[in-house]
Amino acid sequence: MARVSRSEELFAAAQVVTPGGVNSPVRAFRAVGGTPVFMASGSGAYVTDVDGNEYVDLVGAWGPAILGHAHPAVVEAVQAAVADGSGFGTPTAGEVELAGEIIDRVAPVEQVRLVSSGTEATMSAVRLARGVTGRAKVVKFAGCYHGHVDSLLAAAGSGVATLGIPGTPGVTSATTADTIVLPYNDVAAVTAAFEAHGPDIACVISEAAAANMGVVPPQPGFNAELRRICDAHGALLVLDEVMTGFRVSRAGWFGIDGVRADLLTFGKVMGGGLPAAAFGGRAEVMGQLAPAGPVYQAGTLSGNRVAVAAGLAQLRECGSDLYRHLDATAETVGRLASEALAEEGVAHRLQRAGNLFSLFFVGHSFVGADVRDYDTAQRQSVSQFAAFFHAMLDHGVYLPPSAFEAWFVSGAHDDAAVSRIAEALPHAAKAAAMVAT
Ligand SMILES: *Cc1c(COP(=O)(O)O)cnc(C)c1O
Repeated sequence: MARVSRSEELFAAAQVVTPGGVNSPVRAFRAVGGTPVFMASGSGAYVTDVDGNEYVDLVGAWGPAILGHAHPAVVEAVQAAVADGSGFGTPTAGEVELAGEIIDRVAPVEQVRLVSSGTEATMSAVRLARGVTGRAKVVKFAGCYHGHVDSLLAAAGSGVATLGIPGTPGVTSATTADTIVLPYNDVAAVTAAFEAHGPDIACVISEAAAANMGVVPPQPGFNAELRRICDAHGALLVLDEVMTGFRVSRAGWFGIDGVRADLLTFGKVMGGGLPAAAFGGRAEVMGQLAPAGPVYQAGTLSGNRVAVAAGLAQLRECGSDLYRHLDATAETVGRLASEALAEEGVAHRLQRAGNLFSLFFVGHSFVGADVRDYDTAQRQSVSQFAAFFHAMLDHGVYLPPSAFEAWFVSGAHDDAAVSRIAEALPHAAKAAAMVAT
């Protein structure tokens, strides 16, 4: 059992000054129980908490830490940039280079606007799509997360072409009235929604590969069908690559399925661990943004020079060797986890989208079927995951504290790190096996 006294003290203090004690909800361990671990430092594949416990990290800062923590190239770039001033509210050279790097990697992207978070990127992309088309409605898929944009926080409705129901107090029904929520991977539902509302639909937004309900890759041809349907109705296709971008390949998910979106959104990896994100796409569409065009979008810290330096330094380290390593490591860790669970007779599905993967504890009734949408993802046993999670934590492996999140490997996950994961897995599989489903 790890020591957690300092984390407990800090969490108690945090709950006084911050709602729920955290600055982003999943960090609070509500889904798995227990006290969130306050981290003090990170190096390579490892993080160390405030009580001195070291863990192999499979969260990777929720995606950004693709090279591992405190990679020397990123640290050096940040230190050099900040020493010259953290930002001036003027254009700087790094912004041109970072935009160029993104355009060079992702063929459908001809122009880029930098922002500070993935939420801002998707919010701005949807505004632009509405501004360019002059239409109001947006199609999104249940279980896809696009940040906490009001109009995209519409919850899943069952059935086809459900009109959005606000997923949280504070988002009004007027805000989500133009959001159409459909089941992921359901082409027939998309076709039906366009038959009903085609002339009013500005865009379809989808995660390029869904990885915020656990990992649920698009069925073969799904993204291509979205492209075809959007073209047939004059709507724009927005593919959200905030998680997959520059992670699953040099060109993100576009590098895997080649479907050309009109607009793409990026974040996580491209910020090198600092707040930088972007949206980009066809020049004809991007050219409608202020000051070139009429659609307003702005940001005091957009293109911040320290964040841009971190992102550029990181992307320059993300070459084909890294992606080979990530693919192989994800394959190994996923297989080891699956084998450990099979050994204990725990029914599960391992699902992958490139080097992103997650486990679904699906219960025996569900063996053999893919998790293909939010409805099926919600049938997993979160209590089995919680037991598995805590046993991994106790044995020195830090997993995402939710069954609905992807696991992240990095360039720093070497054989030694993988061995430590392998040693922890049998304990976690036993813990999961003890939970009745
Ligand atoms: C993380 C994420 C976002 C939101 O990004 P933030 O930087 O947290 O605002 C949007 N879309 C997807 C697919 C994500 O994974």
